[in-house]
Amino acid sequence: MEKTLNLLMGRQVSSPQLQALGVALDSTEFKQRPAVIIKKGRLFCQRCGFQAPRTDYALPDKSYYCPACLAWGRLTTTMSLYSIPEANDFKKYSQDLLEKKTRLSLWQKKAAKELLQTVKRKQERLLWAVTGAGKTEMLFEALNFALLNQQRVCLATPRVDVYNELYPRLCQAFPKVKSSLLYQNSGQEYTYT
Ligand SMILES: [Zn+2]
Repeated sequence: MEKTLNLLMGRQVSSPQLQALGVALDSTEFKQRPAVIIKKGRLFCQRCGFQAPRTDYALPDKSYYCPACLAWGRLTTTMSLYSIPEANDFKKYSQDLLEKKTRLSLWQKKAAKELLQTVKRKQERLLWAVTGAGKTEMLFEALNFALLNQQRVCLATPRVDVYNELYPRLCQAFPKVKSSLLYQNSGQEYTYT
């Protein structure tokens, strides 16, 4: 059971997804919120952020559904999303996790330092640079800081080829850190990493 609850930390799942994981709704203190809400005649999906006039997505039973994230199972205004707050239940490391140090140029170092400060301060930042500029390597110190502080890190990209290219480099740079590569047909199952 403990292991299953880990799988729900920091995620939002629908009741059919909970059922598939074999978790009973009364078995723990889930946070619950409506899956799809209607505000001023507009539909808002609380899973994917889609919004549109509600009349476009009505169902015969007078509920409404989100068309944008159907691939993960249909969400409607009659359903809820459940989550368990992130516990950051990760191994504590006292030594640097970054094994493969990269030599950075003066300007790359400057950007890496700013990214580290951004993570320390829990702020947002846009790093905008051409392909091959070393954006991944500039992230390493910031990633190291986050992981040493038992934070969870997600690197998201809209292209599968980028995932496949990045993943081995990250595993090589942080060999002690368990991570997963997740996209449709990636062949990996979701785990608590
Ligand atoms: Zn949606």
